[in-house]
Amino acid sequence: MLIACPLGFAQGTEPQLPDPGTVAGASKDQQIQLGQQAKAEVYKQMPVLPDSNPVTQYVQQLGKKLEAGIPPDKSWPYEFHVIPEKDINAFAIPGGPIFVNLGTIQAADNEAELAGVIAHEMTHVYMQHSIKQMSKQNMAQGVLGVLGAVLGNGTAGNLAKIGMQVGAGAIFMKYSREDEAQADAGGAIIMYKAGYNPKAMADFFQKLESQGGGGGPQFLSDHPNPGNRVQAVTNEIKSWPPKNFTSNDQALAQAKQAASGIQTYTAQQIADGAKQGVWAKQNQQSGATPANLPSSGSAGSADVANLDPQQIKPSGNFKPLQYPAFTIQYPDNWQTSGDPNSSITIAPQACIGQSALACGAVISGMQPQNGGQVSVDDATQQLVQGMEQSNPGLKANGSPQNIQVNGVQGRAVDLTGNSPVQKNGKPVAEHDKLVVVPTQKGDGLISLIFVAPDNAQSQLQPAYQKMLQSLQVK
Ligand code: ZN
Repeated sequence: MLIACPLGFAQGTEPQLPDPGTVAGASKDQQIQLGQQAKAEVYKQMPVLPDSNPVTQYVQQLGKKLEAGIPPDKSWPYEFHVIPEKDINAFAIPGGPIFVNLGTIQAADNEAELAGVIAHEMTHVYMQHSIKQMSKQNMAQGVLGVLGAVLGNGTAGNLAKIGMQVGAGAIFMKYSREDEAQADAGGAIIMYKAGYNPKAMADFFQKLESQGGGGGPQFLSDHPNPGNRVQAVTNEIKSWPPKNFTSNDQALAQAKQAASGIQTYTAQQIADGAKQGVWAKQNQQSGATPANLPSSGSAGSADVANLDPQQIKPSGNFKPLQYPAFTIQYPDNWQTSGDPNSSITIAPQACIGQSALACGAVISGMQPQNGGQVSVDDATQQLVQGMEQSNPGLKANGSPQNIQVNGVQGRAVDLTGNSPVQKNGKPVAEHDKLVVVPTQKGDGLISLIFVAPDNAQSQLQPAYQKMLQSLQVK
């Protein structure tokens, strides 16, 4: 009796993508939110083809095919977009959006090469390389592992805690050679699983290297050669079961044909246009700008822009909030939200916008990165700097003052900035109070930021005062 035996049996095992791990302080949702904010920045700084463009549609279906190579439980909400830029480049932002320059599509000799570039970018997202780098940079710079939550920009505030920057910093990441080796290795697996010959990715990068001159295409300075790219990929795929690879070169040829009729720009032209606000307008007009983009930067958030001060009236009844590091009392008609490992927001529901906090208190715990002690003054200074940097227009009014909170000596600073709340289409002033208090053991600090828009300040101030008086740091 004969038993059917799978062909290719014992010829090697199917490759698997490595476990990407997690990044402390940056959940999947936070990374996706950060990516959406960085994406909003892309649509301001660069021209992007609309999704209806045939070249974009081609890249999107190619991207979809490659997504099949990633285990669904570890995948990301990938998006694929095309920038009409002449230079050969591509970039990925955290959480999934990938942008490919038109020049890259034109430089690919076959579909597998283009698939290689996209699979490589997808691996940067999959491995969370930029988030890992941002968090590493922050650790190198700061004494504090956690920079306090920042106001006027809720999401940015949350991410500012691990030193992440929204905007250009999040978009143009220069990867390390180690990241590049991982992106090549992971990209090869994604390609293989989707039916493309992984060697085409290495071939394409090799081709870029050989173009040389002036450092070669931009792609190579953002994605530096980890060394022996071709050899590394060849070694990697040697033990994998053989496969009949595909490459729909006709589809690529059609996309190139469509691309030839599109106006492209140099990097310099794009940078110049960004300064004049050309792309934001053009992307709006062409329908490229997605409808649901969060506001990037300091722009107000529509949902809290028309805040009615009557909706935020604090109840006279206070209830306790207890954590190992502190307890505090707060109005019982307000909500608490957040992650106790990083920061807690206490606010009236009406003040919590999608990407902005119009009023309320944000309480964060901070500990020195390597154990040891940190001075209240240093911590306060870092927090003020972090807040000012992440919130354009926000400025401290003078230097920190001593403050007694239930017998513990802390520091307090008042800051003024722009509220997400608007009046006649303009932001009203925002008054923030930052209070930093050391823990009793001296192993950490608690920071509180009280946020009040100018038109609700008189209503909020007594409640904030009462909250601060009730604070007990352990
Ligand atoms: Zn790369």
